[in-house]
Amino acid sequence: MSTKVAVVTGSNKGIGLAIVRALCKQFNGDVYVTSRDVGRGEEAFHQLDINDLNSIKNAAAYFKGKYDGVDILINNAGTAFKASDTTPFGVQAEVTLRTNFFATRDVLTHFLPLVKAGGRVVNVSSMLSASGLKQCSPELQQRFHSEDITEDELVALMQRFVDEAKKGEHKQGGWPDMSYAVSKIGVTVLSMIHARHLSKERPKDGILINACCPGWVRTEIAAPGAPKSPDEGAITPVYLALLAPGATEPHGKYVSDKEVQPW
Ligand code: NDP
Repeated sequence: MSTKVAVVTGSNKGIGLAIVRALCKQFNGDVYVTSRDVGRGEEAFHQLDINDLNSIKNAAAYFKGKYDGVDILINNAGTAFKASDTTPFGVQAEVTLRTNFFATRDVLTHFLPLVKAGGRVVNVSSMLSASGLKQCSPELQQRFHSEDITEDELVALMQRFVDEAKKGEHKQGGWPDMSYAVSKIGVTVLSMIHARHLSKERPKDGILINACCPGWVRTEIAAPGAPKSPDEGAITPVYLALLAPGATEPHGKYVSDKEVQPW
């Protein structure tokens, strides 16, 4: 039998590194640290800057060539501005959405076709996606709840947020005043869209894809007073990555503390 492989984006530190540590103990296969900066990750390692399409394509080709695909993909890489940051809101919106939503989507576009039967895909979202959703206009909430929203429509909505944020018109547009929350709404809804596609297009493959919140975790992008350690933050993503062979759920859900949450 061929060697199984797990790939974790943004895993040179924080929750991503803790996920790698846990998978090394619990997953019977190779586990890859990926980092955008070669100097920041040098063990079982592949360079992967999710903001760089060539880097995504190179990494995908590497895993296709060496392992004929991937068994576990954890989209963990993400970014957030500190609340005290004075960067103009429109710039924060563009930068935050670029990594958290658009680049994560690019990784999925190039890696999902490589995910093998029985594979598991985990997109690290945030509880702020759920609270941000409640702050959206009824029209936006309706679209983000709908079962018929397409990837193209979601991409257009995320782009609309960035465009309106740049003009200072995002509140009139029905959006919450927090780019990070909007970016993670995108991650959660994209996970649900991909789950529906996989169920339709590859029904026999048993691939499970979910979005999750790791909890509030002491890392560089959160406050030092956050209650969870990175290892504790890794628990739910790792649980979803290691859902037992043959499991049929959760799939296309938003999960926190190992429980499916309402969306
Ligand atoms: P860290 O800042 O510690 O880690 C973020 C990781 O993402 C780093 O490895 C960083 O790499 C990487 N990254 C950022 N941009 C890119 C990129 N373009 N390409 C590749 N890697 C990139 O934060 P966390 O560990 O807390 O965050 C991990 C995930 O958890 C994120 O998606 C975050 O939004 C989410 N999350 C975190 C919460 C928390 O309380 N900490 C709560 C809810 C969700 P580099 O070192 O090069 O910057």
